[in-house]
Amino acid sequence: TLPTVAIIGRPNVGKSTLFNRLMQRQEAIVNETAGVTRDRHYGEAEWLGQTFRLVDTGGIVAEDMSELMEAVQAQTEYAMAEAQLILFMINAREGATAADHDIAMQLRKIDKPVVFVANKVDAAEVEVDLESLYRLGLGEPNLISAEHGQGVGDLLDVVLEAL
Ligand code: GDP
Ligand code: MG
Repeated sequence: TLPTVAIIGRPNVGKSTLFNRLMQRQEAIVNETAGVTRDRHYGEAEWLGQTFRLVDTGGIVAEDMSELMEAVQAQTEYAMAEAQLILFMINAREGATAADHDIAMQLRKIDKPVVFVANKVDAAEVEVDLESLYRLGLGEPNLISAEHGQGVGDLLDVVLEAL
């Protein structure tokens, strides 16, 4: 069986954009009618001849902050249980938010590799508050643009190295 990489993070940081960019073969969509995680998308990705399974933990719908925290918590637990490696994405333009800190706290406790990604760095002009990112305690952020592709190759190198 293929190693599994789960992409987690708050809504709208760009998880599905990265997932779709890397997707070679779409697999099942697991729908959950009730509950906070709603659905997870599975597919296969390949880099430098190595194939792995990707999970996009999407579909969070939250009415307020506490629901969002609950949803993100549930999503994170799924990912931690089923993945060999967790790719944690934040929006570099926003810096680290309270919800990001909440997720990071859980990720620091687990015994699996975590690759930290800060997305939406589309150009050198994008200002990134690196200090706020380092305060998450997850090491060096991999700066990428899921939309335009900058940094994605380097990120995949890091992923394969850690898998
Ligand atoms: P998800 O909720 O984490 O799955 O986020 P999506 O992939 O649905 O993206 C949320 C929004 O961010 C969409 O409008 C995307 O077009 C936008 N987005 C995603 N990646 C990038 C990026 O690298 N740069 C910019 N500028 N926008 C992005
Ligand atoms: Mg999504």
